[in-house]
Amino acid sequence: KTDDRYIIFLITKNKKRQLSTYENIYISLINLKQFCEENKIDKLIMNKLGQSDNLDGDKIRSMLRYIFKNTNIEILICTNDEYTEEEKQTILQQYHDSKLGGHLGINKTIKKIKKQFKWVGMKEDVKNYIKNCASCQKNKVTNRKVKQPMAITSTSSKPFEKIFLDIVGPLTTTLSGNNYILTMQDDLTKYSLGIPIPDHQANTVAEAFVVHFVCIHGIPETILTDQGTEFLSNTFKEVCKLLKINKINTSPFHPQSNGSLERSHRTLAEYLRHYVDKNRANWDHLLPYAFFVYNSTEHTSHNFQPYELVYGRQLEIPIKLKSEPEPRYNYDNYMYDLKQNLQESHKSASEESLV
Ligand SMILES: [Zn+2]
Repeated sequence: KTDDRYIIFLITKNKKRQLSTYENIYISLINLKQFCEENKIDKLIMNKLGQSDNLDGDKIRSMLRYIFKNTNIEILICTNDEYTEEEKQTILQQYHDSKLGGHLGINKTIKKIKKQFKWVGMKEDVKNYIKNCASCQKNKVTNRKVKQPMAITSTSSKPFEKIFLDIVGPLTTTLSGNNYILTMQDDLTKYSLGIPIPDHQANTVAEAFVVHFVCIHGIPETILTDQGTEFLSNTFKEVCKLLKINKINTSPFHPQSNGSLERSHRTLAEYLRHYVDKNRANWDHLLPYAFFVYNSTEHTSHNFQPYELVYGRQLEIPIKLKSEPEPRYNYDNYMYDLKQNLQESHKSASEESLV
């Protein structure tokens, strides 16, 4: 026993050189269940049982399901053992070219996969996979290693205090009649949003900003924009005045103050290129996925997921592979974790701002 964890060894064979049997495993698991109940253990992480004895994993899983049926014990089976080529391909495909994967580069793809899977030679597999990815080949950006503008020190002390706004477009008109994207990026966390809009008139932009940003994340103290007419208009000024937002126009002579937002545009543009080719009239439907990828990827300026800094927990790509028996999500536990995570991140955020 260490802290509040136990390390439990299950004995599943009578003699060292013998093979374990279903019967032995069954008896061990019954004992395990009893032990868990006596010691109020509600979560088990275990290795695959019976694998070295050529026992059928499915049979053992149904045994587990049967024995732990009426308990509150959550069981996770470690799967960081050998994957078949087919399984590896599925993982690579999910993490690289699905809509949630976003055709990211080698290092970023590896980082994401490593959070949930592990195998020897993963780095090489990812490299080869991306090298042979037709979509990446086609859309290869020649100067991938663009020197990034020097990061400006963030002056925000909490998320959504200071927001950068910008307009991208005009783009191909979509079936729903959208031509532009209103992009919004939080200065502190780099959390970013993109809202498809039909035109860039001041009314349209102001409404999109209020509906999709203010109504969800609250009223920022400051917004920064470039010199675009839509932001200079009276309508937009009035909206800011009404909401008591301090509005700053970034000087065209100091474009680096918006460097971070421009970088996110580059990421977004690269990401979208993979999909718009297929259906140019559909990019507005792909925007949420693009921003999902952006917000769940560690940002170069702080090495956190923007999502993580906002919500206090990491965002993982949902992929269900070899995860039986189903982990059960207990609502009370989730609420407890969320509360704790949020409390901790708020605590450290406020400590940070005192310094
Ligand atoms: Zn690719």
